[in-house]
Amino acid sequence: MTDGVNILPATPPDCPCIFQAPALLHDPLTGMLNKHGFVTEGNRILKALSTNGGNAILIYMELNNYDGLISRLGYDAALILLATIRNRMEMAFGRGALLARFDSERFAALLPDASTEVEGLIRLVEAPLRVDNTVCHLSLSCGVASFQDAANSMDMLIMAARSARQEALCSRRQIGWYADALRRKLARQRALEDGLWFARSGAGMSLMYQPKIDIRAGQMFGVEALLRWQHPEFGAVSPTEFIPLAERNQTIVPIGEWLMREALRQKHIWRQQGRSIHLSINVSPMQLQPDNCAPSVLEILTEECRRLGLERDMLELEITEGLLSNEEVMTQVKAIATEGFGIAIDDFGRDHSALSLLVNCPATTLKIDKSFVDNVVENERQLAVVQFIVALARRLGMRTVVEGVEHLMQLVALADAGCDYGQGYFYYRPLAAQQVLDLRHKH
Ligand code: C2E
Ligand code: CA
Ligand code: CA
Repeated sequence: MTDGVNILPATPPDCPCIFQAPALLHDPLTGMLNKHGFVTEGNRILKALSTNGGNAILIYMELNNYDGLISRLGYDAALILLATIRNRMEMAFGRGALLARFDSERFAALLPDASTEVEGLIRLVEAPLRVDNTVCHLSLSCGVASFQDAANSMDMLIMAARSARQEALCSRRQIGWYADALRRKLARQRALEDGLWFARSGAGMSLMYQPKIDIRAGQMFGVEALLRWQHPEFGAVSPTEFIPLAERNQTIVPIGEWLMREALRQKHIWRQQGRSIHLSINVSPMQLQPDNCAPSVLEILTEECRRLGLERDMLELEITEGLLSNEEVMTQVKAIATEGFGIAIDDFGRDHSALSLLVNCPATTLKIDKSFVDNVVENERQLAVVQFIVALARRLGMRTVVEGVEHLMQLVALADAGCDYGQGYFYYRPLAAQQVLDLRHKH
């Protein structure tokens, strides 16, 4: 189907969806149920299903190229497009389906038959169409969840279908099914989030320290503190898994406070043992929000430094480059820098932030992301970018640290490019505090 396919009027057809609802529950542009209407009506249906043991599936759909399509069409043509989508959904999913448009590009269908072959129906909705001489190619990404597998309410069913879609997007599939694997993943996330509440004051948490080496002198310059969590049920959980969850449920604020005090306590112990070691601590954006009611990062740093007699210029906070554009956070970061603490920009080059943000940035260190290091040997253009970053950092008075150095040849290339410090498995993996002390004999 291509030219002149199913161009249908924008008005609701004669036989609307069999589940009728009051006007306030409708999307004004398509006449379909809106999200509120869909949830209200859907819950009524689910209640009936749970008493008679029936099943249903929910298909959640997003039109991937919605903004592009709408900006190419005029208002009237956009209405025709939306009406066509409604008509196609009615034809594809049938009279027994409850259909909705949540907002702009988001649609949903609740189908009474859980054995429906979804792929074919999606293809019907997606077939290209011509509106006002413009050929529109629709592209949907979808998540499917079944009532018996996933939920006891519409809210949960929608959430499950959306997670399934998200999961499918990550693995570049068009349709994702809320299945066992996803249910297990969400259950694990919930259990980890609960566990983080118990770990708020450091229970099960510990720190490892990864050395940073002065590339030319071959000497250890300092360490970065890295958080570790031993969950009572799941064992060691990677920070790449639990930090985002701690950010989501905001436990990162008390955990971050615990880890700062713990790292500073360790630095103090090293000093008592005769080693003055430069220390970097990762801070997450939420710890730098002015409105969280815990003591601020600056308050914790100044209090501990006073109590333990630590030198401020031997301490550094690592923030990610994405924060440079956040004015509220940068106000805090500048205050911390003004008080004499170092600031490092972590993972520099991983995201796409503007170089102009460096102009007013108080950072003293630029940490060049591992992705630049990985193919610096094979790819001369990659090396050229590293050389450029190093030159820029130098002009701005920052030292450079390259992260994730794993091989000697990488190190040689990076040394030639002028990088100051290296960190990575080539030198050391993260170490326990005592092992850092033992490095005295090596460096
Ligand atoms: P990051 O700050 O970029 O930390 C570097 C990560 O790369 C660490 O993983 C480290 O173990 C790993 N790494 C170091 N050298 C190499 C190498 O040569 N090859 C490879 N493949 N990896 C290397 P880790 O400890 O699992 O931490 C992962 C991320 O979790 C950190 O990335 C950071 O974003 C976050 N994180 C860790 N500790 C903390 C913390 O105390 N606070 C906060 N807010 N985030 C933390
Ligand atoms: Ca870091
Ligand atoms: Ca990093």
